[in-house]
Amino acid sequence: MGIKAVKFGGTSLSHAEQMKKAAEIVLSDKERRIITVSAPGKRFPQDEKITDLLYRMDGAQTKEEKEKIFSVIRKRLDTMISDLGLHLDFSDEYREISEGNIKGDRLFSMGEYFCAKIFATLLHCHFTDAADVIFLHENGTPDLPKIKNAVQNLMKKQERTVIPGFYGAKPNGEIAVLPRGGSDITGALTAYGADADIYENFTDVNGVQLADPRMVPNTVTVAEISYEELRRLSSMGACVLHADSVLPLMASEIPIFIRNTNDPNGDYTKISAQKRRIAADDCSPIQASLASKQRKRRGRFRIISHSIKKRRNVALSYSGIVGQKGYLLFSVVLREIGKNISDFGNLLRFFESHTKHVYSTPHTVDSVGLLVNKDELNTAQEELVRQLYEDFHAEKVSVTEHIALLSLIGENLSAQSARLILKAMKEVGAEPILLDGGADSLGMTVGFHENFLLPLVKKLHAELVG
Ligand code: ASP
Repeated sequence: MGIKAVKFGGTSLSHAEQMKKAAEIVLSDKERRIITVSAPGKRFPQDEKITDLLYRMDGAQTKEEKEKIFSVIRKRLDTMISDLGLHLDFSDEYREISEGNIKGDRLFSMGEYFCAKIFATLLHCHFTDAADVIFLHENGTPDLPKIKNAVQNLMKKQERTVIPGFYGAKPNGEIAVLPRGGSDITGALTAYGADADIYENFTDVNGVQLADPRMVPNTVTVAEISYEELRRLSSMGACVLHADSVLPLMASEIPIFIRNTNDPNGDYTKISAQKRRIAADDCSPIQASLASKQRKRRGRFRIISHSIKKRRNVALSYSGIVGQKGYLLFSVVLREIGKNISDFGNLLRFFESHTKHVYSTPHTVDSVGLLVNKDELNTAQEELVRQLYEDFHAEKVSVTEHIALLSLIGENLSAQSARLILKAMKEVGAEPILLDGGADSLGMTVGFHENFLLPLVKKLHAELVG
C-alpha cells in the first residue's frame, strides 16, 4: 500500500461542517495516512484566523485584554467540539494559557495543536505532536535526516496519524514556529519523511489559478506546473503554496497535488518534475516556435486535461500571470559602479539592513537600480536617499514610486512571454520601467506604473485563454 501525505489548510477546518468534509476525504482513501493540519482559518471574510488571534493575544498589553481575546478562541474551539459531538477536554491547556505559562512561539503554535487533536479524535486515529517529529536546527531550518528517521518510525507503528502544522522543536526541545503559512512546509516534510508517493494539499480553490481570481473572476486552473515554476509563482506573490514547501520534495521527486476540499473531485493542479523535464527535452527554440504557431490557431492556453498524450502541450503552457503593486525603484548614478564588484556589494549590504529583499538590480557601468517593496522598508525613503548621497557619494539618486511588477511564468517561455507582455503593454498604454527575464528561462517580469496592473493582467489573460 502506498502512502499519501495530506495537508488541510485553515479554511478547510474553519468550523465543524468543513472538518466533516475534510474527514470524509481522509476516510475515503486508506493510503491517506499522514495528515497535517493548519489552525482553523476564517469562516467568513471579516472573521479572524485562530493564529492571528493568538498573535494578537501575545501582543496585548493587559491581562484583561489577553483574556478577552482568549475567550474568543476558547468559544470557537468549544463550539467546534460540541458541533462535532466529540468529547475532548482542553481544560489543562486552557488553564496553562490563561495563567501565562504558554507564550511566544509555543502560544502561536497552539491553533494547530488544538486543531490536530480535534481532527484526530474525529477520525478516531493517532495524534502526533509536531515537536516529536519535526526537528529544527537552531536557526529554524528543518533537520531533514532527523525528521526522516522519526517519521519512518512513526509510519511503522501507526496506520494513520494527524500532525499539527506550522511548528517543530529546536535542538533544546523548545517549540519554534515556521514562517507564516508554514503548515504547507510541515506537510511537505512529512511527505519527505514518509517517502510518500504523493503530497496532497487541500485548500479552498481548485488548484493553482492562471491569474488571481480577484482580478480575473473567470480564470482557469493550471493543470500541470513544475517545482521551479511554483517557487517563482509564490515568490512573486501568488497565494498557492508556501515556496519553501517545495524544497524537501524536489530531490525525491514527490509530486504535489493541490485540490479543493469543497470540490475534491474537481479540477486540480499537479506540481512535479515532469513538466521541466519535458520542456528541457522537447522545447528547442525551433520546436517552441512551431508549436506556438499551431497554438495561435487554437488559442494559446488550453486547459490541459490530465489524460493528455501530447507532451508538448504540457511543456509549452504558461503556469501563471502574477502581479503585485507597491514597489519602488532607487536609481543611483555612481561612476564605475558596474565595474566595481566590491562597491556594488557594499550598496547591496546597505539595502540589506533597510529592507527584506532587493527584487532586481539592473545596472550599467555608471548606474544601478534597486527595486524594493515599499512595505518592506524599515527606513524612510528620504533618509535612504540622503545616505546614498552622503555615504556613497552618489552623483544622482531618483526614486520611482507606484511600480507594479507582473510576471508571466512558463518553463522555457521567456522569449514568448516578453513578446506577449510588450504587445499587451502597448495595447493598454503602459510604459515599461523595468524588464527582467531572470536567469532561469521561467518567463519574464516587467515593472510599470501600478495603474495599469489590472488592465494588463486582464489583457494577458484574454490573450492566453482566448
Ligand atoms: N496557522 C499558521 C498561519 O496562519 C500556519 C498555516 O496556516 O499554515 O500562518
